[in-house]
Amino acid sequence: MTYDTNNIFAKILRGEIPCYKVYEDDHTLAFLDIMPRSPGHALVIPKAPARNILDISADDFAHVARTAHKIAGAAKRAFNADGITVQQFNEQAGGQAVFHLHMHVMPRSAGVALLPPMSNKESPKVLEDNATRLIAALSG
Ligand code: 5GP
Repeated sequence: MTYDTNNIFAKILRGEIPCYKVYEDDHTLAFLDIMPRSPGHALVIPKAPARNILDISADDFAHVARTAHKIAGAAKRAFNADGITVQQFNEQAGGQAVFHLHMHVMPRSAGVALLPPMSNKESPKVLEDNATRLIAALSG
């Protein structure tokens, strides 16, 4: 399987499509999922083109893991979460829908189930508010 440069996250990286950015460094970008499975659901992607874990370099994957670690801690504080779920899917059979590697970082409240994937498009207002909270926690 080859990397498709026109996937939606590649377009976000090139600035062709907007996103609710919460964090960026030389190697990674983190932004909110617009169809969150929990409030504050964020995605971490490498800037390097990689379809998934099967073609990314170990170093680029480590950069993504490092940023996911940072986002998870901030998300726990920002959303007063009881826990954090991190997921990463590979190829269609592995549950992947967008073919640029990403890690999901989802704040969890005790006893509250995740929404099904891509079941609810969140309002811009809620996404803006949640991005602001996460950005504040990241800088705190
Ligand atoms: P996966 O490929 O791991 O199954 O999930 C892809 C994720 O990307 C889903 O959670 C979906 O809600 C999210 N997603 C799909 N299109 C967009 C988009 O245009 N912007 C953002 N921020 N997230 C998206």
